[in-house]
Amino acid sequence: KPIAAAALERVDDNLLKAANAKYQWHPMVHPKRLEQDPPLIIARGRGAVVEDLDGKSYVDGVAGLWCVNVGHGRKEVIDAIQAQLAQIAYFSPFDGTTTPPSILLSQKLIEMTQPEDMARVLFSNGGSDAVETAMKLSRQYWRLKGQPQRVKFISLMNAYHGTHIGGVSMNGIPSFRANYEPLLPNCYQVECPWIYRNPWTNDPKELARICADALAREIEFQGPDTVAAFFAEPIQGAGGVIVPPETYWPLVREVCDRYGVLLVADEVVTGFGRSGAMFGSRGWGVKPDIMCLAKGLSSGYVPLGATLFNKRVVSAWDDDATFTGAIMHGYTYTGHAVACAAALACLEIVEREDLPGRAAAMGARLLDGLKPLEQSSAVVGNVRGKGLMIAIDLVADKETREPIDPGEGLAYRLADAARAHGAIVRPVGTKLILSPPLVISEEQVDVIANALKEAFRVAV
Ligand code: PMP
Repeated sequence: KPIAAAALERVDDNLLKAANAKYQWHPMVHPKRLEQDPPLIIARGRGAVVEDLDGKSYVDGVAGLWCVNVGHGRKEVIDAIQAQLAQIAYFSPFDGTTTPPSILLSQKLIEMTQPEDMARVLFSNGGSDAVETAMKLSRQYWRLKGQPQRVKFISLMNAYHGTHIGGVSMNGIPSFRANYEPLLPNCYQVECPWIYRNPWTNDPKELARICADALAREIEFQGPDTVAAFFAEPIQGAGGVIVPPETYWPLVREVCDRYGVLLVADEVVTGFGRSGAMFGSRGWGVKPDIMCLAKGLSSGYVPLGATLFNKRVVSAWDDDATFTGAIMHGYTYTGHAVACAAALACLEIVEREDLPGRAAAMGARLLDGLKPLEQSSAVVGNVRGKGLMIAIDLVADKETREPIDPGEGLAYRLADAARAHGAIVRPVGTKLILSPPLVISEEQVDVIANALKEAFRVAV
C-alpha cells in the first residue's frame, strides 16, 4: 500500500518508522541515532495536547518547537486558512503584484509595534530567513547612509540565529558552526550575560555592566565606523534559556546608540508573548531598530517569518532616489497569502486571550513546580526561565557547576522518562528545555512538572 495513503488511515506506525529511516533525514541529529531510536510520530493535536499514531496522548511541553503558541487545532486558524485557500493560495510578491492578507498583516504588525516605532515589514518563510533579511538590509541601510564600510556584525556567545550561512556565522554555539566552516567573515561574538555560568560575578547588575562593556570594547576594537549591527535574542533560547539581568538590554541600547550601531532583536522565540511580554525587548523596556519574527507569528500552522524596520531605518529608504534603495532580496513565498491569513487569525487569539499574561502566569507556576528539583536531584544545577521559556541545567557537580557529559545521553533518558509519564520535553545537550503552548492550563502545567519529577526519580 502506498505510504501516503496508509498514513492517512492510521496504519501500524512501524511501517512509517521504517519508511522514515529509509527515506528521510532530520535536522540536528545524526541519521544513525534515529535509526536506533526512531522519532515519535505525532498524528493529531488539540490545545496543549498531542497524540501519537497509536492514540497515546501527551502534554506538549515544547509547543512543537517553541512555536505553536495558540495551541494545536484552533478552529479560527483552520477556518482562516481554508477561507484563504478558497480565494487564492499564492501569487507573486515580486513584479508589481501582491495579495490582500500580506497587506493586512503588515498593517497589523506595525500597529502592534508602535511602542517600538516600527514602520515597515518584509516577510519571509521563517526565523532563519528573518535573520538573513535583517543582516542584508542592515548592510544596505549603511550603504544608503553613505557608510558602505559598516559591514560587521556582532552577536553573543550562546546565541542562536538560525541555520542560513549568515545566521550560523553569528551563532554562538560551536556545534551548529563546526561542520559548516568556513563561515561568513566579519561576524564576531562577545560574552553573554549568563548569571549561572560566568567567571566574574553573582551580581546581576555588575554582570550586565561587564557584558555591555565587552560589547563596547569590541566595537571600539573593530572600529565603530565598520560595525553595521549588534544582533541578540532578548532571552537566549536554544543556547539554554539564558535570561539576562534586567539592566543588560537598556545598557546595550546605550552602547549601540553611542556608536551608531543598529540594534537587532531576534524575537523569533520571544515574539508574541512567550516571555510574558508581547515582545522580549518590550519586556526589557528597550526599542530595537530591527525585529526578527517567526514561530509565534503564525503559531507554526504555516511557515512564516517577518523582519520589522523602525522609522530610523526606513528613513534611509525614504531619503533615497537611486537604485541603491532597491530591495534586491526576498523569497518566492514572501508574504504568502495562506501564511499571512493564518497569522492574522493567530494574532487575534494572542491579543484576545492575553497570551503574554497567560505565559507569565503559567510560566511562574511551572518554574515553581520545577525549582524544588534543584534541591531534590543530584544532577539539577539550575532551573531558570521567564514566561514559558524554561531550562533545567544538568550538572555532574553542583559545587563546580560542571555540566554533565552530553555523550552519556542523560538528557535523552530524562526526556524519554517524562514522555512515559505523559509530557514531551526537549533534550538539548546538557539541558532540558520547556516551551509549552501559551494556552496551557494549570492542570497541564502540573502534568509536565510531575512527569519531570518522576523522570528524575527513575532515570538518573
Ligand atoms: N532565531 C532564533 C532566536 C531561533 O530560536 C530560531 C529557531 N529556533 C531561528 C532564529 C531560526 O528560525 P527557523 O528555524 O524558523 O529558521
